[in-house]
Amino acid sequence: EPGLYIVATPIGNLGDLTARALAVLGECSAVACEDTRVTGKLLHHAGLKKRLIRYDDHADEAVRERLLAMAAEQPVALVSDAGTPLISDPGYRLVRDARNRGIAVTSIPGPSALIVALTLSGLPTDRFLFAGFFPAKEKARAETLADLAPIKATLVFYETAPRLVASLDAIAEALPMREVAVARELTKKFEECRTGVASELSAHYADTPARGEIVLMIGPPNEDEGKVDLDIDALLRAELA
Ligand code: SAM
Repeated sequence: EPGLYIVATPIGNLGDLTARALAVLGECSAVACEDTRVTGKLLHHAGLKKRLIRYDDHADEAVRERLLAMAAEQPVALVSDAGTPLISDPGYRLVRDARNRGIAVTSIPGPSALIVALTLSGLPTDRFLFAGFFPAKEKARAETLADLAPIKATLVFYETAPRLVASLDAIAEALPMREVAVARELTKKFEECRTGVASELSAHYADTPARGEIVLMIGPPNEDEGKVDLDIDALLRAELA
């Protein structure tokens, strides 16, 4: 069937490519992707060879037009380097324009690092706010934390290894008592999820630098903290420090 197929791909473990993802990738006429090398490898692993078209939302309007014209006639898949397209990844403009033109859009669900991290963290999952990448600059970090601090939900951010300690220090400064979780290398061999207050986690990762891909989470504010199993010793240590 013609249309745009949003296809989630593994975030580290190739076993997480779903049967439907494989079927759709097998049947589509072209695959729009962020990086043709990364997607080429995935398709090769799946025993497929497809026409790959590099796409991001800021790419040339002409590329989007070409993809839309194709999707109106044939099945076109959209993938990102890893995980669910559109989640801190390109695709939203393509989907918006496809919908506006009456082109069928369907989503083949699969892994997303934010959901995997949340389910491992032990933090409340009934309400959460995904806020994309944690800001890289000091001022933006402080502003973001001030903005989000009152929100009664677990906060979820994407993070990079080189910035982790500085981000944890910013959280220790703004929200010293909150429970924080760091999830790394999800679905991979060295998967890890560590929890504590930010100052403890910062000390740990200053000592043992984190590698790989990271999701950073902050538990909800005080009134909800009764629901969270806080480690009183850790809180005391943080306060004394
Ligand atoms: N669309 C992807 C998804 O659905 O998860 C996210 C893309 S975003 C550009 C990449 C970021 O996702 C990484 O910097 C990291 O924060 C997070 N991420 C992706 N894979 C991960 C993994 N295996 N473990 C931990 N975090 C991961």
